[in-house]
Amino acid sequence: LENYIAVNESVYDYEPGSPERARLIEAIKDARTKVLDIPMIIGGKAFKTDTKKKISPPHDHQHVLGYFYEGSSDHVNKAIKSAMKAKESWAIKSPEERALIFLKAADLISGPYRAKLNAATMLGQSKNVYQAEIDSACEMIDFLRFNVTFMQDIYKVQPFSPEGVKNHIEYRPLEGFVFALTPFNFTAIAGNLPAAPALMGNTVVWKPAHTQIYSANVLMEIFREAGLPDGVINMIFVDGPVAGEVIFSHPDFGGIHFTGSTGVFQTIWKTIGQNIGKYKSYPRIVGETGGKDFVIAHPSCNVKALATALVRGAFEYQGQKCSAASRAYIPAEMWPKVKELMAKDLAEIKTGPVEDFTNLINAVIDEKAFDKITSYITKAKKSDEAEIVFGGTFDKSKGYYIHPTVILAKNPKYVTMCEEIFGPVLTIYLYEGSKYEEILETANTTSPYALTGAVFAEDKNAINLAKKVLYNAAGNFYINDKPTGAVVNQQPFGGARASGTNDKAGSMLNLVRWVSPRVIKENF
Ligand code: GLU
Repeated sequence: LENYIAVNESVYDYEPGSPERARLIEAIKDARTKVLDIPMIIGGKAFKTDTKKKISPPHDHQHVLGYFYEGSSDHVNKAIKSAMKAKESWAIKSPEERALIFLKAADLISGPYRAKLNAATMLGQSKNVYQAEIDSACEMIDFLRFNVTFMQDIYKVQPFSPEGVKNHIEYRPLEGFVFALTPFNFTAIAGNLPAAPALMGNTVVWKPAHTQIYSANVLMEIFREAGLPDGVINMIFVDGPVAGEVIFSHPDFGGIHFTGSTGVFQTIWKTIGQNIGKYKSYPRIVGETGGKDFVIAHPSCNVKALATALVRGAFEYQGQKCSAASRAYIPAEMWPKVKELMAKDLAEIKTGPVEDFTNLINAVIDEKAFDKITSYITKAKKSDEAEIVFGGTFDKSKGYYIHPTVILAKNPKYVTMCEEIFGPVLTIYLYEGSKYEEILETANTTSPYALTGAVFAEDKNAINLAKKVLYNAAGNFYINDKPTGAVVNQQPFGGARASGTNDKAGSMLNLVRWVSPRVIKENF
């Protein structure tokens, strides 16, 4: 295992007639005919409670996929105890032993579990086949394999030892346990947030989003089948504030690995601050939060590439990506052509359930999200400052469907140009092409976020100017490409400002956060 070099997993295309497609269809059918009972897993044991909650596909909310059991503060305490107990043997295992377990998990997903995990992501989170494949198959496998390479790279970093001295860095895990609080929108992120600290020798209390429990359950099954010892990752289903109350006041709280909203992250950080005297060590706080990601077109750009990037960047997975293109600045003189090309692309996009693979747009995650997203659309319909140019229709009778919506804003600070919507809504502001530099300044100061952004230009000076003016505006900056779809080890992912601590998922920079090194100097 020395010098393990990971490579990115290939994306299956699920062509009609292919064996992969047949397996996936079978897995979807199988999942739809079962009603699962999903317990928490603490110290390797299953826990059920009296509070049973229904899981339904967002695109078919009358259908029941299963039930999960909601726990209480008791379960949080149990999970912390098992994590601390498991750590005694996990932390002293050789890195190779830990690595082999996660590499086995990657192989299980790449092979026998691929269809089951993708089917769970498709049904539970309403993702189309392609979006599921790049997430719960490829990105999950990549995280697990590349983390091993990153871990080995970190361990290789050793200090200089002069004559007669041996200096050595011991890459210990953090003191205490790690809390992984994970989002619904990527199964791979939900899996990586507990897996990355665990690989480095930590043990974890994992609380998946309630809306992702259906695929989280399959991930847990895979980790266990790969040989992960009991208690290394403990999966609990507890209301956020109930879990937070126990975890953030616990002396053994060692760190949090978070992806979710800016508001929740700020509340967590404040709570940790208030409790700071209680902990044995200063906890690591690693979080990826919101985004209000921009696309800026320069008059020199390729209009076709721009239009495609807008449609894909804004609407893939219903815009429920922190990285989604959600505000665009386009030269007014270019707009008729961009609009025509977007109209063509949008006309070809079908909305509907994931079981029909030709539907590219599916439902948004739940009713709360549906109501929030559509309130912005309704407001825009009534506003003098906005005009709906595409979509604007929605219907939640069978599933939480919202048609891809494009709003033209007359004011660059109109509310949908500034606030994160997390749904299939793109707002465009038309500027006078000669005022490119001004629009870069506007884009830089419009939102508190700095996750992703894209600039489209053929003119090299325009690209350089954008890089300069938007220096702090995006942790992932794309030139002539959509702002979504970061690949592990190719575009390490994360942003600063209100978008997070920028600890780059999919790179060594993230893994290094899960160690607390000890330096040993020995004279001889
Ligand atoms: N890494 C994903 C991308 O590049 C986004 C992750 C997220 O939404 O949190 O599109």
